Amino acid sequence: MDKRNAALTALVVDDSRTMREMVSAMLEAQGIGHVEQAEDGVSAFRAIDGLEKPVDLLFCDLAMPGVDGVETLRGLAARNIEAGVVLLSGVDPKLIKTVADMAEQLGLRVLGSISKPFREDQIAEVVAQYHRIVAPKRGRPALTITAQELEAAIDDNRIEVFYQPKIRVSDSQVAGVEALVRMRHPAYGLIQPSAFIDIAEETSKRITRLTLAVLQKAIAQAGEWRRAGLELGLAVNVSTQSLRRLDLPDMVEDMASKAGVDHTSITMEVTESQVMGTAEILHILSRFRLRNFKLSIDDFGTGHSSLARLRRLPFTELKIDRSFVDGAADDPDLQSILTSSIELGKRLRMTVVAEGVERWADWRLLERLGCDQIQGYIASLPLAAADIPGFVRRWTERAA
Ligand code: C2E
Ligand code: MG
Ligand code: MG
Repeated sequence: MDKRNAALTALVVDDSRTMREMVSAMLEAQGIGHVEQAEDGVSAFRAIDGLEKPVDLLFCDLAMPGVDGVETLRGLAARNIEAGVVLLSGVDPKLIKTVADMAEQLGLRVLGSISKPFREDQIAEVVAQYHRIVAPKRGRPALTITAQELEAAIDDNRIEVFYQPKIRVSDSQVAGVEALVRMRHPAYGLIQPSAFIDIAEETSKRITRLTLAVLQKAIAQAGEWRRAGLELGLAVNVSTQSLRRLDLPDMVEDMASKAGVDHTSITMEVTESQVMGTAEILHILSRFRLRNFKLSIDDFGTGHSSLARLRRLPFTELKIDRSFVDGAADDPDLQSILTSSIELGKRLRMTVVAEGVERWADWRLLERLGCDQIQGYIASLPLAAADIPGFVRRWTERAA
């Protein structure tokens, strides 16, 4: 069994309960981490919209009453899901081929079809196919870091921090940087957070250790820049999983005063994991605010960062998720979303930041809409600490 399977989410859509349960059981036997079922297209859409993580594998029956398989696939393609699709059917192989072609044209990745009665080895084969074909294209690391490897990296001080500049729109100056964690692997080199954040978040203790390691490094670094005459705001990502320690604000305060960094220049970007605003988290976030740290709602607009959180928590910054930013200049729907998000943030007296800006057209649009700051590859990739002063110098010269 492939140990990467544990990280996968599968959705089985079939009107026959027996078939659904059978396929689900086989997927579970393959070690798939999360298996959802839906009895028709409409409930499949609902399931997908409600899932915490995107679906990786979608098993879809073709012959269903109501919204049939073909319509279901169209609806899924419209949702831009990146899952590998497996057609389930007892129907004519020719028809399956036609449907598979149609699905590919809609942009779905078809891994194959399996016919009833399903066998365990067919399921294992399409899952293997997923790892070979779909996973690399999804930009997911082929490599998954184990809990032990991550713990060892924290123990051995192999957690590194990269910094991505945030640019103020009004005067084009570098307003600050966001600290983004990386892990140095003895064999594989520098590893991106997507390969280990989920594992870090499995336990509150582990993600807290990681958060503290990042805070420690980033705040010390901000202090060094400051002494070298470089005043930069610093944003650090804290997941709600690590907001379980009531003394976290005290610890950060301590780090800041040791490094000689002003609280008002530090922003906590809160990323949602499983926990919704519990009393504990509210308490900790309020204590950060009372000490004049700033709070940003990260990935705003995704299922994880919603209006409900905005109302309950004392955020000072709203950071619009990059899925609403990239390509907005050419997309009226995205423009509407951006327009209202920016207006919402402003009305709530928050600084509005757009992340994932890759094109000038989007930058100009954001400027027109009154967005305060932008962050994205258009300005810079995340950089090693040593490259930040040079970037700031070149950027400032260019902006002048
Ligand atoms: P995030 O906080 O939303 O960070 C932005 C991510 O978008 C970064 O990925 C950044 O490299 C990427 N990005 C920036 N500009 C562009 C762009 O123009 N185009 C595209 N396609 N991507 C862009 P990265 O560094 O891989 O981090 C991914 C996520 O991992 C972060 O998303 C954050 O949720 C999490 N993360 C990173 N560092 C930490 C940390 O220290 N603690 C915790 N809890 N989570 C972290
Ligand atoms: Mg962030
Ligand atoms: Mg974000």
